[in-house]
Amino acid sequence: MSASPAVLRRVLVLLTCALVLFATLRIGIEGNASSEVGCRCEEARQENGWCEACGTGYLASIPIPSRFVYEALDAHGHDIELTSIECVTCLDAIRTDGFCDVCGRGYIEGQAYLSRLAFHVAKGDYEAVEPDFRVLRAALVESERCELCAAAMVVDGACATCRLEWRAGESLPFGR
Ligand SMILES: [Zn+2]
Ligand SMILES: [Zn+2]
Ligand SMILES: [Zn+2]
Repeated sequence: MSASPAVLRRVLVLLTCALVLFATLRIGIEGNASSEVGCRCEEARQENGWCEACGTGYLASIPIPSRFVYEALDAHGHDIELTSIECVTCLDAIRTDGFCDVCGRGYIEGQAYLSRLAFHVAKGDYEAVEPDFRVLRAALVESERCELCAAAMVVDGACATCRLEWRAGESLPFGR
């Protein structure tokens, strides 16, 4: 008792339909998933925030397509425990809304900013940070080679992987 060619053809057509339907549904689901995350670059640009969909952050409208660099810049103020601060320059900077070069952090209205760029951008003091913007641009180029170096560049830090220390955008051998 074998199926007639007509029946077989029907089955084939049905199978094809099912496959096409399945593929369409899949595309639909995937399409929805990515639009659910959604690009929020517009807002991110205004609030020095991060757009998850594009993997890009912003500081002073500069797009930063590296999570490491963006996190290192740390564009937001942090609450501080006054009693935990022992650095004299910091204590002075807290009183004057200034920057402590020793610790690489600034203070505005009792909040700490953990990079010179974040501090000056928060103050709206863009001219003062022109050299830091240059370092940031160089860091974004460097991030193609090593994102950790790029992140270290913007905070005068070090990359343990490459064993390089960064000062004002220039690298020095580790541990000097
Ligand atoms: Zn986006
Ligand atoms: Zn300090
Ligand atoms: Zn590195």
